[in-house]
Amino acid sequence: MLGVTHLIAGAAASSVILGSDISGMALAAAGALLPDIDTADSIASRSLTLGRLRGPLGIMLFGAGIFISMPVLTVVGGLFLAVSILPHRGVTHSLLAVVLLWLYAPLPFVIGYASHLVLDALSGRVPFFWPLGQRFGIRVPAGDILAGALSIALLVGRYQEIF
Ligand SMILES: [Zn+2]
Repeated sequence: MLGVTHLIAGAAASSVILGSDISGMALAAAGALLPDIDTADSIASRSLTLGRLRGPLGIMLFGAGIFISMPVLTVVGGLFLAVSILPHRGVTHSLLAVVLLWLYAPLPFVIGYASHLVLDALSGRVPFFWPLGQRFGIRVPAGDILAGALSIALLVGRYQEIF
């Protein structure tokens, strides 16, 4: 599913479920992009970890952090390295990730994140109960277009409600 579809659907989900305002919908849109940080070409990966450069950059930052005794660099480098080796649709597409986010992130962000998993389950199979190997999902023909159109309709309705 396209990143822009996740973005719009996340905002719509937050708007419908929480009655979020614009800032809440923006948080949800950001949350809806985050699960695909496990793939180098996603919007989240390109904007947060420089996409395909994240592996080499992670090694450089990790090494530099150790060399100049700067723990922040070591941690950031380690995170870049970690996301560069994550399999696509693995732990980032699990309920475990949703629960962990729920502990630390604002609720609209979590709703957006969860909406990503639901939409991915409509276009493929998602390991909701990771690390258990079973994947769940139903392939809906043109699910991307349907989800995008429904989300836009919900956001237009919500926009008219707000303004
Ligand atoms: Zn995904």
